[in-house]
Amino acid sequence: MELHIALQKNFGSFTLDVDSTLHGNRIGLFGPSGSGKSTLVSLIAGLQQAESGRILLDGDLLYDTNRRINVSPDKRRIGIIFQRPHLFPHLNVKNNLLYGFKRSTAGNRTIDFDTLADVLRISHLLDRGVNNLSGGEKQRVAIGRAVLSNPRLLLMDEPLSGLDDTLRFQIISYLKSACEIFAIPYFFISHSILEMRLMTDQVLSIEQGRIIEETTPEHLSRIHMGLNPAGYVNLLKLASSYQLEDMRVYLWGNAELFISGKNDQPDSLFELSSKDIILFKRHPEAISARNLLQCVVTGIFESGGKVGIELGCGDERLVAEVVHQVVGELDIVVGSTVFAAIKASAFRRLG
Ligand code: ADP
Ligand code: MG
Repeated sequence: MELHIALQKNFGSFTLDVDSTLHGNRIGLFGPSGSGKSTLVSLIAGLQQAESGRILLDGDLLYDTNRRINVSPDKRRIGIIFQRPHLFPHLNVKNNLLYGFKRSTAGNRTIDFDTLADVLRISHLLDRGVNNLSGGEKQRVAIGRAVLSNPRLLLMDEPLSGLDDTLRFQIISYLKSACEIFAIPYFFISHSILEMRLMTDQVLSIEQGRIIEETTPEHLSRIHMGLNPAGYVNLLKLASSYQLEDMRVYLWGNAELFISGKNDQPDSLFELSSKDIILFKRHPEAISARNLLQCVVTGIFESGGKVGIELGCGDERLVAEVVHQVVGELDIVVGSTVFAAIKASAFRRLG
């Protein structure tokens, strides 16, 4: 997907002023509340008009103030998923889903209804009224309706913000599968760095109506580490495991990780804060933490007055966060060996 946006829009003291060409299929837009994210979404979708500018999607001109072109929202073939599902209350689940499908032209109807309902796990809900659905089910129906209209671009404006954590990570996996299976490029808006990591390959940072940076989700996490209460979030996808009393033991890199609790899922995603890793210069004699990993320092970076230490453990990477003095006291340089201690209870399962 290629999207060119050059747009200016004024709301009193607030001005949105962007000029970017985006290439990719999983693009994030990250910024604080009030930075102009929703305004940009509504301009791309055609729900509002800019004072001046141009929008080109895959070479098609959708909006151009100079040439007085303004393709109407229903002809842009752009789908939107909002924070709240906005379903039609008088229609059942099936007819809500089919709404977008019926409005797409026959030639664009390439998405198979039954496959999509299956991917989103809503096949058993089709005859239900939408008022009898849970929050997560409603959001899955909203996703299905947007995907079934077979958009060439899907805009998602903080679609996960209203959900609790468990639901959030379930919906993320449905969203990713649906967009991947049906090859739908998307523009994903959020103020959560973790969501950016899970949903996107590249991120635009927006502040006060201007795009200030184009970066990767990984780099975004690192530059926010020192100021983020959660630090840098290490994401670990863990598969083969066995139970050992009240802990689960996972193979990871060239080591084993001990994680508190039981887990019968075949594979799981865990988060581990950079603040929960304690570094030792030498192998400690005896410690209470269940995990002690011998690592090589593969990188050092600064963020918000703190230092991030990138640790190589076999082919795997972790980021630990320390204060400046520690770097000197432990003689930490790229290439040095350190021991990382992590409590079994420090890992949190995301899904
Ligand atoms: P975000 O989605 O990043 O939170 P918005 O795009 O909703 O930000 O809003 C950006 C700025 O534009 C805010 O200052 C907001 O108050 C203002 N704004 C948005 N829509 C309107 C509108 N229809 N009328 C006046 N001001 C608006
Ligand atoms: Mg918004």
